[in-house]
Parts: sequence; structure tokens; C-alpha cells
Amino acid sequence: MSNKNRVSANKRIYYFGTGLTEGNRDMRDLLGGKGANLAEMTSIGLPVPAGFTITTTTCADYIEAGSKLPKDLIVEIKSNMRRLEKETQKIFGDTTSPLLVSVRSGAAVSMPGMMDTVLNLGLTDKSVVGLAEQTGNKRFALDAYRRLINMFGDVVMGVEHHLFETVFDQIKKRHKVSEDTDLDESGLSQLIEAYKSVYKKHTGENFPQDPYKQLEKAVEAVLKSWNIPRAITYRRLNDIRGLLGTGVNIQSMVFGNMGEDSGTGVAFTRDPSTGKNEFYGEFLINAQGEDVVAGIRTPQAVGKMKKWRPDIYEQLLKVKKTLESHYKEMQDIEFTIERGKLYMLQTRTGKRTGAAAVKIVVDMVKEKRINQKTALLRVPANDLNQLLLPSFSPKAKRHVLTKGLPASPGAASGYPVFTADDAVTRTENGDSVILVRKETSPEDIHGMHAAAGILTSTGGSTSHAAVVARGWGKCCVAGAGELVIDAKRKTITVHDRKITPHEIISIDGSTGEVILGDVAKQAPTFTKEFKTLMSWADKTRKMVIRTNADTPEDSAIARKFGAEGIGLCRTEHMFFGEKRIMPMREMILSENSQDRKIALKKLLPFQRKDFEGIFHSMNGLPVTIRLLDPPLHEFLPTEEKSQRKLARAMKVKFDHIVRRVNQLHEVNPMLGHRGCRLTVTFPEILEMQVTAIVEATINCKRKRIHALPEIMIPLVGIDTELAMLRELTEKTIERVKQKKKFKGKLDIPIGTMIEIPRAALTADVVAQHADFFSFGTNDLTQMTLGYSRDDIGTFMPDYLDKNILEFNPFESLDTTGVGQLIEVAVEKGRNTKTKLKCGICGEHGGDPASIIFFQSVQLDYISCSPFRVPIARLAAAQATLLNQQLTLFN
Ligand code: ADP
Ligand code: MG
Ligand code: MG
Repeated sequence: MSNKNRVSANKRIYYFGTGLTEGNRDMRDLLGGKGANLAEMTSIGLPVPAGFTITTTTCADYIEAGSKLPKDLIVEIKSNMRRLEKETQKIFGDTTSPLLVSVRSGAAVSMPGMMDTVLNLGLTDKSVVGLAEQTGNKRFALDAYRRLINMFGDVVMGVEHHLFETVFDQIKKRHKVSEDTDLDESGLSQLIEAYKSVYKKHTGENFPQDPYKQLEKAVEAVLKSWNIPRAITYRRLNDIRGLLGTGVNIQSMVFGNMGEDSGTGVAFTRDPSTGKNEFYGEFLINAQGEDVVAGIRTPQAVGKMKKWRPDIYEQLLKVKKTLESHYKEMQDIEFTIERGKLYMLQTRTGKRTGAAAVKIVVDMVKEKRINQKTALLRVPANDLNQLLLPSFSPKAKRHVLTKGLPASPGAASGYPVFTADDAVTRTENGDSVILVRKETSPEDIHGMHAAAGILTSTGGSTSHAAVVARGWGKCCVAGAGELVIDAKRKTITVHDRKITPHEIISIDGSTGEVILGDVAKQAPTFTKEFKTLMSWADKTRKMVIRTNADTPEDSAIARKFGAEGIGLCRTEHMFFGEKRIMPMREMILSENSQDRKIALKKLLPFQRKDFEGIFHSMNGLPVTIRLLDPPLHEFLPTEEKSQRKLARAMKVKFDHIVRRVNQLHEVNPMLGHRGCRLTVTFPEILEMQVTAIVEATINCKRKRIHALPEIMIPLVGIDTELAMLRELTEKTIERVKQKKKFKGKLDIPIGTMIEIPRAALTADVVAQHADFFSFGTNDLTQMTLGYSRDDIGTFMPDYLDKNILEFNPFESLDTTGVGQLIEVAVEKGRNTKTKLKCGICGEHGGDPASIIFFQSVQLDYISCSPFRVPIARLAAAQATLLNQQLTLFN
């Protein structure tokens, strides 16, 4: 390694300013998103207050060293501060021209409001005088100082915010003012002294008068904030892993609170709810940045700026254009205006709803900013979920209580809850709840996540509640100012109408309406952009997308969502209907094959009709039907009352029923008498099911419905099982053909599920008897890891918390372990039969991360639940693109 490289490997700080900018947008991992983009904006000539960024590696080192700053760090900070002083021509802590800085957190992935930020650092008893002189505004200088003591005390030293609030209220009372901004200079001076005593009382030390002491402590506080509980929770909920830590940005201050020609704001370059190409945001006149995000004052829409300062509005629109051309992405920006001059304080990729994500990429392709591949890769497949959710039916009656801002679209109904903890508990108990708050804060994250929707009475459409809700695609109405929320009594009052916690309310995230009671919902409608994106996905993907469905209704939904066939039609659900369960139970309780056949004969017409319905819905598309799979006792009554009823119906003794039920009991039913083992012992079950399939197919064909069944034999572990059952299946098909005098071709493929590790390992011989493989990844996961899927609740949370597992393997495929079995089975299977069709029909078929793996082992199709079909279509396209990229690099 060259000498120069060795130096830069240890480099902990990257400067950004007009003279020198060391970072850029590609350095997010090292500098955090905020730092990387501050540097980038500086480079492209946007007005950014100068500063520097401490690397995320430093944060990792700090944590690893047991919360100790690396020893060379302070030296490096000081030398960068000197550069900053030179550039700004101000001096840190100076009595005539003091430099003030902010200390801001910022990781590689944005976590809005999760970690700490301190503003106005560098003010002391001495420099506050300098600031007053320098700005000609003593009130402002004092106000900045009291904010610093408060913020530093709260964020850095852990003095509770309300302790400062109390003192503030006392002094306001003494001076007979109600608003913070009405306190005069002498009042503020008193407040500063009072704050200092609060500080001393609760920290045991004086407020630091050495500005470098302030800086050092603030840097440490930001580094520490990486591992505070709310930040950890946020990362967990948002599946953010593998980051080193937070960067720390030290930046010269600009002031939006210097009078009526100053202000601060937050904006998105496009509407983050709908994706419309419209500048969207809010600002406050005469305020510091935190005020907008914290939702303390309800700001004005950014469009109003045209009236206030048309020149600045023009500048902002220009910035929007520059940023979008540069980043080719929708941006979320923070800005401040100090005495008429605009400064950019942050830019990042804007969080958006699923609908907005789709519209933005399709529009950007039209605008020739990005190509179709980029567009496909940029929409998180799971976010399509939001486009498939129902909305309130426009025809339904609405008792509108009031209106707030439509902050994040969707339709939610539930009981009002007033704390995040309540939201979690009530949701766990099965209630749908709306979290109702004056405003939300980062501490509420878990409750916001649990609730069906979020409703606030203050704060705008860029407030914490709105931003977080949109990121999740959760319905949110913000700033409904007419609501009077009494969190203690758990009531909401609007225009004298009191709403109790036992009354359901509904919120409409597209109109902002707050509605009393539930409102009827309607199925989603697809936008033109959604259809366009889906057509690109269909053109790109290699895998066929099928669905798991066992009713004509589900089949029809899935088809509307683009399913190209059924990959798993479970037959067991068909036996639970009112008229079917009795003959089913008779069949199970029969003690000889004769009786069993009589019962099965009763079931046959039901089963045949079910298949006809499904073939009709799926006309022209393949339908893979799985023969009976679950252990039989699942169908039997467990309560005495139903057992007695069954005895009467079957005209046998009650004791007889009890005895048979006990006989059928299994210690380990998931590994017991189920799947193909059932038909090994009771071949007549298979015969009945195959008869129903073939008769339904022939009946359909005679009605010109193009039925394409495939018969799937579950839970095969040994090739001879399959050989035997295949023969029986083929014989049955032949027999039915003859009985129905059907002369045409039927061509019904017979395949198996690969869900027992042994079947995967011996796939070459299993394939001799199979026309296709379908991986049952639920059972395969269960048996490979040795986890009973129904019993993981007791230990899985610990495994995740303690990082033994990165994720629940029943949700996302364990590609290293279970994946190996799939890979081996595909390879061995195709060695025997080159064209062996392979697919997957477990829960993982709808999981984008697993889908990437399925593409990499070249499965022919995936099958998932109807509502995940569009997600799978997009994810399969992404998988094709990602796998292409991977092979390019290899
Ligand atoms: P968050 O990640 O919570 O948004 P930030 O570090 O972005 O925290 O800081 C919050 C707000 O503080 C910013 O939006 C901005 O308005 C204000 N702020 C931060 N640094 C400065 C600065 N140097 N000058 C003026 N305002 C600042
Ligand atoms: Mg910010
Ligand atoms: Mg199974």
C-alpha cells in the first residue's frame, strides 16, 4: 500500500466548503447519507454552509472501544475547525465574531429524527455578546443561547426537557407573556441564568464555557445516539442492517430565526403521496429548522412562498431542477433562509408511498432521466402491497367529523388509542386501532408501526408522523386542528361531539377526512403507471408467476392480478364445507375400505364441482392440484358435543367415535400419517380425487373450457412412493377416460412436491417418476432446520434478538441451508430430465429476497398468494436484472 493510501485509510474527517470538498455522494457508507450529500451539493455549486463530516467508521471504533473517542480525533477536529474558521471568517467561541456550528447525526440509511442533533454550538457567556454585536440583534443572540443550553442539556447530558419547560413557563408568567417569542431581552437573560441552574442541578457541573468542551461532548452524544433504543427499534422495524454507525456532521450555522426575512423549510421535489411532479413542502417564517419537523407550529405550504418572497421561491425551484437532474431521483430537502439568502442544509432520496414510487419512476422514464431497468429496480417490490389495498368506497355514507391534511394515502378504521404502547397492546389483542396524537415523536415509532392509521392534530405534511407513515405506506391524516385530544381521559372532542375509546373512527389518507364509524371499502383500481410498470416487469422477467388458490373466487382475483396459472391448489380446504365435513368424517372413521369407499363416493361430486369452478376461472391456464395432504385427525371433532352429533349421523355409538379419534391421535402429526403416506394406506382416497379431477376436466372440455390440470403428489421422500402412486394415478386416469368414453388427448402431468430433504438429495431418481417438481419450502424449511412451524413462537424472537438468525426462515428463505437442497434437487432432477419443470409453492414465493434466489437456481415458476402476484411479477423482473448483473461481474 502506498504511503498516501495508508494516510487516507486512517482519515476520519472529510471537509466540505468552497475551497475544498473531500467527500461525494458515493461515500454514503463512510460519511452517512447526510454528509455525503452535503459534500455533493457543495461540489455542484449549491449554497451549503461549510463544515466537515466524521466518518461512520469512527462511530464503529468508538463503540468497539467501549465508548471512547479515538485519541487522534480531537486533533483532527481542531484542524478542520481552523479551516472552517478561515472560510467563514469567524472564530469558534470568539467575543467579537463567533462561529457557531451544528452537530448532526446521519447514517448511510436515513432514519428521520431517530438520532441526535445539536444546534447553536459555541455560544458561551462571552461569545453571546459577540453574536449580539455581530448580528446587531441582542434578542436573537440571547434566544440562541437559551436554546443551546436547553438542547445541549437535553440531548447531550440527558436533562429532561420538561425541567427547562417549567422554568420557561415561570419566567413567562413573571413577565406576563404567553408566547416564547414575546419574552424580551431582560426576560431572556433571566431565563439563561435559570437554565444554567437547571443544568447544574441535574448534571452536577456548570454549563461548559469552553466551546471545544461543548463540541467534544456533542460529538460523543451523536455517536452514542446510534445505539439508543429508539434508533435500534427503528432499524429493526425497517430491516436496516449491516451499517457501521452514524456519521457526525459539524456545520457552520445559518439562522432562519433572524426576523421576518428569514425562515426555514422542508420540501420534496415531487409529491411523496401521489408522485405528481409538483413541488411539495412547507416552511415557517422566522424559525429554526427543528420547528418544522417537530410539528410544533403548523407551517405554510411552500407554494405560499410565492407571495412572501417570489425571488426565493424562484431560487428554490431552480434548486429542485438542479437536484433532480443531478440525482435523477426525487429528493427530500431541508433549507433555511437567513436574511433573504437561501441555504441548503440537506438533500436525500425522498421517502414515498408505493403509489408515488410507481408514478415517479414511470414519469422519469418518460422524461428520459432513467431507463426502464433502473425504473424496475427502484420500486421496492413489497411496496406494491399498498396499491393493492382497498380504499373507502366513494358511494359509502361518511359522517365526516373534521378534515386534516391528507398526509399518507390509504383507508383505515379502528378504535382510537392515545399512546404508542396502547397501540401495540390493542393490536396484539386483535383490535384495529388508530393512533391519535397531538403530534408524534420518534419515541412513538413502535405504536405507529402497529396502528392501522395515524391521526394528529398539529403538524403538517412533512411532520414526523407524515414522513414516517409515508415511508411505510401507512394511512395518515395530520394537522386536524379541530380535534381536541385528551390523552388522559382517552377522548377526542370535535365541535362538542365527544368520541369515546369504544367508538370506531375512520381516516381517509387521500382526502384528509376524519370520519365517525366504519366506512365500506372497495377493491383497488390500477393506475395507468402501475400497468405500464407491470408490462415492463412482464417483459423482463424469466419466471412464470402462478398463484396458490383453491376457490374459483381466489383464482379470479389472482388472474386479475396477472397470475399465469395455479401452482398450488390445496384440496383439503374443500372438505370443510358444511355438507362435506360429515362424509369426510365418515370416511376417516371407517374401519374398512368398503365403508371408506361409500363415504368417498359422497365426496366425489363436491370435489368434481370445485375443480370445474376452478378450471372455469383459470380457463386456458395450468392448475396444479395437490392431493390430500394434512393428517386426518385435523378433520375430526374434538368436542364432545360435535362427537355426539357425528355418532348420531353415522348411526354408531358415541364410544366408537371417541375410540377412533383417540386411535388417530399422533404425537408428532407434522411427521406422521399425512401427505402421500395417506394414499399408500388408503389408495381409494387418491382414486376418488383423481377421478374428480379427470371427470371435471372432461366435462369442461366438452363445454369448450380449456382445463389444464396437473396432479401433484405431496410429501414424497422416497422414489418408490412416487413410482407406486404414479402408477395408480395413471391407471385411474385411464379408467375414467374409458368410463366417460373420452377419445381425445388428456395429457395430465404428474409431479411431486419436494419438501422432504431426502427427496431433494435423491432428486435424480425421484425425477424418473415426476413430470415436474414443486418445492414446498414451508415443510422443507421445517424439516431442514428441525423447527416445527407452529411452535417457533417460543424461541424465534430470541433467535432474532440475539442475532443467531438474521430473519425468520419461514418468511424469507434460508438460502445457505434450505437453498442448497433446492439447488441440488434442481440440478439432479434436470440431469435425469433436461426439461424437468421446477417451481416453488411455499410462502416464500411472495418474498422478494427469496425470489432473487429462485431466479438464480433457474426455477421455471413461482407460486404465491393472490395478493402477492403483482409483487412477485416485479420481484421476478428485479431478480432477472440482478442475476444478469451478477453474472456480468463474475
Ligand atoms: P434530522 O436528521 O433529525 O433531520 P438534522 O441534522 O437534519 O436532523 O437537523 C435538523 C434541522 O436542524 C435541520 O433540518 C435544519 O433545519 C437545522 N439545522 C441543522 N444544521 C443547521 C445549520 N448548520 N444551520 C441551520 N440550521 C441547521
Ligand atoms: Mg434533517
Ligand atoms: Mg407440505
